[in-house]
Amino acid sequence: IKAVEVLESTLKRIDSVEDKVQSYLTLTEDIAFCKANEIDKKIANNKAIGELGGIPMAIKDNICTEEILTTCASKMLHNFIPPYSATVYEKLLMEDGVMLGKTNMDEFAMGSSTENSFYKTTKNPWDISKVPGGSSGGSASAVAAGEAFFALGSDTGGSIRQPAAFCGVVGLKPTYGLVSRYGLVAMANSLDHIGPITKDVTDCALVLNAITGYDSKDGTSIKRDKIDYLKTLNEGIKGLRIAIPREYFDENLSEPVRKALIEAIQVFENLGAVCEEVSLPNTKYAMAVYYIISQSEVSLALARFDGIRYGHRALNYTNIEELVKYTRSEGFGPEVKRRIVLGTHWLSGDKYKEYYQKANEVRKLIKLDFNNIFSNYDVVLMPTSATTAFELGSSQEKPLAREKLDGYTVAANLAGIPAISIPCGFDKGLPIGMQLMGKDFDEETLLRVARAFE
Ligand code: GLN
Repeated sequence: IKAVEVLESTLKRIDSVEDKVQSYLTLTEDIAFCKANEIDKKIANNKAIGELGGIPMAIKDNICTEEILTTCASKMLHNFIPPYSATVYEKLLMEDGVMLGKTNMDEFAMGSSTENSFYKTTKNPWDISKVPGGSSGGSASAVAAGEAFFALGSDTGGSIRQPAAFCGVVGLKPTYGLVSRYGLVAMANSLDHIGPITKDVTDCALVLNAITGYDSKDGTSIKRDKIDYLKTLNEGIKGLRIAIPREYFDENLSEPVRKALIEAIQVFENLGAVCEEVSLPNTKYAMAVYYIISQSEVSLALARFDGIRYGHRALNYTNIEELVKYTRSEGFGPEVKRRIVLGTHWLSGDKYKEYYQKANEVRKLIKLDFNNIFSNYDVVLMPTSATTAFELGSSQEKPLAREKLDGYTVAANLAGIPAISIPCGFDKGLPIGMQLMGKDFDEETLLRVARAFE
């Protein structure tokens, strides 16, 4: 089978479902055909091709792609064509992945439903009256609907894992520092990650293989020996120790999700793993800490959008102050503004000590909780989300209720540890996600456990 044929059939699929699902903000057919032809030529000439040779892929629209529009689903960047590419995108191209386009998301990755996009509303492919989750909703729906073989997402507080759970696919947030964020438009620097969204765990390992590695262009990138995640993937989990933190099985959890997870624990026991209940006592602070830290960092990261260097610029102004003010008033949507205002507040004057600094101290306690558990266990098992995908439009007016929904995913970002969401059942035709968290840089074990469950 030729790369061009794979591409053609994927484009046909996009043609038939994209009207309903709306995963993409930009389609890059011409670029895709160029690449597919190049790969077919290599094959015809008996030249080696990369590990992702000819595989159609989609990239979240906050990851910079040279000469391809990168909007972050914001009006602010409606005209932003980056002059350079993110390291992850370059790595995927080097492995001969075929770029199909850029996927829809919540504006600047702020949200859990992709409804905060300035441009369009993505639907859940399993039921188009439901949200796909967010903020990487377009990436997850594209993979679930067969509009791409895999996609990249970003995850600051759950934005890869929660949409993966809602769309019935696999989503991995790697360890902080394992995958370069150079070229990712920052939301909150100490929490942002890039990771794969795939149909299954094997694909996840394959894509992770392609995107890991030290990058001197990202100051938080960490030097480590390269691991082949496919190598140990099928070794099974006999004797492995799985921790079940009771705080994550709280009263917010819906009954169908609880039931699916209890059945999953049974499956792991049958596979020879030891499952035991544990406690992560500081987990109850994770949401508060996440919102203080993320909003504070949002207010810093988004300060660069001033209408002068790139993106949207207001038309009518009489001085530079007005230029910046009108540009930001017009360019940012309500959720982004809400977070910038809150973040600026947490950091202003003495409040810095009371909020941002204190939140970082509690962040350390949350990390210590995990360290304690991992001295005795290999992975931690919990839900990805309290519920399955919710109704479109249902979460719009209540930011605080919405924030509650993120309760199960943010701790992994605060601790920097790897976390994966895999499908573990259905309720009323909608997928349920199970989340597994692992030790720092132990994606190998995490993927092995996830794979054993499939
Ligand atoms: N839903 C979370 C939020 O709104 C997480 C966002 C993300 O991971 N980018 O902040």
